[in-house]
Amino acid sequence: MAGEPQEDCLFCKIAEGHVPATVVRETETTMAFRDINPQAPTHILVIPKAHYPNAAELAAAAPQLVADILQETGNVAYDEKLESYRVVFNTGSGAGQTVFHAHAHVLGGRGMQWPPG
Ligand code: IMP
Repeated sequence: MAGEPQEDCLFCKIAEGHVPATVVRETETTMAFRDINPQAPTHILVIPKAHYPNAAELAAAAPQLVADILQETGNVAYDEKLESYRVVFNTGSGAGQTVFHAHAHVLGGRGMQWPPG
């Protein structure tokens, strides 16, 4: 069921504390932790604790959680003292999504190119 924990989902396991992660922020509905394979000096993932497979399904089913996540991306940027940063929701494998639990990447601490690859 939408929002319910999935047994085979890595980010559900992180949200439940069953897989270790370097957690930097946590709210009632979200968790933020450092990406295990950082693509920038600061690379933090912000997830809803509830399971939705991608950002589009999250937005359709639980728009308040999208707002919660975006608020936390701003809090992460503030905590990390990022003047500029990028927030990315890879949505679908063709766009580079590899973990099918919605998440925002917060990337900063270096110059960024546009368009992204
Ligand atoms: P995606 O490719 O947009 O789905 O992003 C998934 C991200 O999760 C990638 O940047 C991975 O490096 C990251 N990742 C995978 N496993 C872990 C983990 O156990 N802890 C933290 N980050 C992870």
